[in-house]
Amino acid sequence: MAPRPYSFCPECAAPLSEGLIEGRVRRHCPSCGFIRYENPLPVVVAIAVSEGRFLLIKRGIAPKKGYWGCPSGFVECGESPEDACLRELEEEAGVTGQIERLVRVMRRQDDEVYGDMLVVSYLVRITGGTPRAGDEVDEVRYHAPEDLPDYLAVILRDIVGEVASNA
Ligand SMILES: [Zn+2]
Repeated sequence: MAPRPYSFCPECAAPLSEGLIEGRVRRHCPSCGFIRYENPLPVVVAIAVSEGRFLLIKRGIAPKKGYWGCPSGFVECGESPEDACLRELEEEAGVTGQIERLVRVMRRQDDEVYGDMLVVSYLVRITGGTPRAGDEVDEVRYHAPEDLPDYLAVILRDIVGEVASNA
């Protein structure tokens, strides 16, 4: 269930039409010319480590409610992706951190809530604070590499090796 498309023009409230514009089917307003361009949502992920272990959150809300994952969230306007990553880490998991490096930028499709996302992942060294579950988070816990859920072990395979050799 991706985000629902606009039905009405946000400028003049006329019903939107669908048509081929600049090579894609887009919603547009026949009355005022408004074109609804759709772009992926920018998401940042904190692959947060301390002493060779990964700090994971158990998600309290959709999407993927009940699953363990890395702290993550949306970049706000006026905020750098690095700042957003460290802010989300502190909000969701209660710890401060320092960006080590960019890990990857990838597209992800969330069919539950958000639709198309541009996901930017950073490796983050935890520098302070005590792990504590923020709003929308059920639990926060360090995971040794061998305790990672299978789906995360696959995604973090390269990082696990890097973290192990630097710990
Ligand atoms: Zn309009």
